[in-house]
Amino acid sequence: LAGSLKNSLYYGVKSSNGEGHQMAMKIGAKTQMMDLGKIYPNGMEVAPGIAKSTIWSNKAAFEDHSGIMVNKAGKRVISELETNHNIKNEEVKQGGKLFILMDQPSYDAFLTKLSITGISKGDMDKWLAQDGKGYPIVVKADSIPAVAKKAGVDGAELLKTVARYNGFVKAGKDADFNRPAKFMKEVIADKGPYYIVEQQPRFATTMGGVVTDMNLNVLDKNNKPIKGLFAAGELVGGAMGDDSPPGGNMAWAMTSGKLAAERAVQSLNK
Ligand SMILES: Cc1cc2nc3c(=O)[nH]c(=O)nc-3n(C[C@H](O)[C@H](O)[C@H](O)COP(=O)(O)OP(=O)(O)OC[C@H]3O[C@@H](n4cnc5c(N)ncnc54)[C@H](O)[C@@H]3O)c2cc1C
Repeated sequence: LAGSLKNSLYYGVKSSNGEGHQMAMKIGAKTQMMDLGKIYPNGMEVAPGIAKSTIWSNKAAFEDHSGIMVNKAGKRVISELETNHNIKNEEVKQGGKLFILMDQPSYDAFLTKLSITGISKGDMDKWLAQDGKGYPIVVKADSIPAVAKKAGVDGAELLKTVARYNGFVKAGKDADFNRPAKFMKEVIADKGPYYIVEQQPRFATTMGGVVTDMNLNVLDKNNKPIKGLFAAGELVGGAMGDDSPPGGNMAWAMTSGKLAAERAVQSLNK
């Protein structure tokens, strides 16, 4: 499933532990879509099971420079400028891992935006020093086969991919995945160093939860409202299906919070 939480890293707050769901389920609430979350494709595993995002850095490396994204087999599988939704689906299909290959100008641009999501250059240097032997995978080497080897990517295939991509840049058209020509400004440098940074799916927001009626009154397993139990925000399951548009969760949390509170007050006054 596209939104399945299986194999996704977590980037939410530590205190979001599902107590709301547990309390409601204890008194018989019906739940739905409990295995689904809002998943993004650009996570780095900064601690076991925990992600930080490289979303803005990716934009810097892809839009103005020559960063490309490949699978373990060293092949591009999607346009780097596709929507997060489509990249996430492809990443899940690829077993939950993709890799960004960058030459020095691309990596320099990547670094300029990292602090937005809480990663420092010091973190990157620390991970580079691990040389591919810990998490997350952030590696550097002088040649493409050498950097690929450190990341566990097929180096011979990656060399071919780079040559093919550079051909597309010169031709002004990505014949494989249609990366827009305006985001193919530079060829990948023919001299190192090169860098590879891992990409894994990450989630913070659950899409599943308790089932409610139109008054946000939580339903039991027989679809009968549970007296006095109202739900809002992330506690409610399926409000936006198996995925959500950007900003949708905040809007839903605020709107449903107001409505659930009003309905709860009305139910007390009945
Ligand atoms: C890093 C991050 C980035 C995000 N970015 C976006 C975004 O760009 N756009 C978007 O739409 N959504 C985003 N989301 C998702 C969005 O923030 C959540 O879906 C939304 O905040 C959920 O609102 P909520 O009120 O249901 O729950 P929460 O915001 O989690 O609020 C629950 C509250 O209950 C409190 N609480 C918990 N247990 C108890 C208890 N026992 N007693 C009393 N209080 C308790 C908590 O302290 C908390 O204040 C992001 C989430 C994260 C973590």
